Amino acid sequence: MDVLVIAAHPDDAEIGLGGTIALWADQGLSVGIVDITDGEPTPHGTRERRLAEAERAAYLLGVQERILLDFPNRYLMDTIELRQALAEVVRLHRPRLLFAPLGLDQHPDHVAAAAVARHARFYAKLTKTDMAGEPHYPPALLQFATSHLRKVFQPAAVVDISDVCERKVKAVLAYSTQFSGREERVRETLLSTARFYGVRIGSTYGEPVFSPEELAIWNPVTLVPQ
Ligand SMILES: [Zn+2]
Repeated sequence: MDVLVIAAHPDDAEIGLGGTIALWADQGLSVGIVDITDGEPTPHGTRERRLAEAERAAYLLGVQERILLDFPNRYLMDTIELRQALAEVVRLHRPRLLFAPLGLDQHPDHVAAAAVARHARFYAKLTKTDMAGEPHYPPALLQFATSHLRKVFQPAAVVDISDVCERKVKAVLAYSTQFSGREERVRETLLSTARFYGVRIGSTYGEPVFSPEELAIWNPVTLVPQ
């Protein structure tokens, strides 16, 4: 697996990183999403419907594999048990890039998911353990935002998602249990947010990327505007 995206709830990865995921998939990279919880209960959702929506969203973006860890929603904590469960996914799938939630958030599950993702990356490289798989330390860790805090955070970079922004919107709206009846509002919010970041890089739509470490430029050609 090239990229593994870690999320607290089904729909987090789509909202924060859907455009970038679609671009990777279009380039032939294998992308997986691991949802730590099923996201339920919510006012209009059921587990079965939410999981079906998650499958549909993954399909729309070109995600190869979607894994549900099935820890309880709303009770997410950075525990040893969860670190190990997540580390096992990392060891078994051996991604080169790990994408985790940005920890600056009002939602406690998102804060916990950010911490546990960082710690799982470290746990994944441990030897002499009974965790499944072989030791693996993903060389890069980046973060995406689905923050409930009403604040603009400074990204490390912005991805040009102009060509796939409509697909991102579709993938998010696949979660009809979450967004039914307010599709236009959600669409407008997603597009205006993407437009805000797109303007920062002189494109139409953009998606912010955050980096807890120095952001590596693996291919300097990508620094030259197309
Ligand atoms: Zn969430």
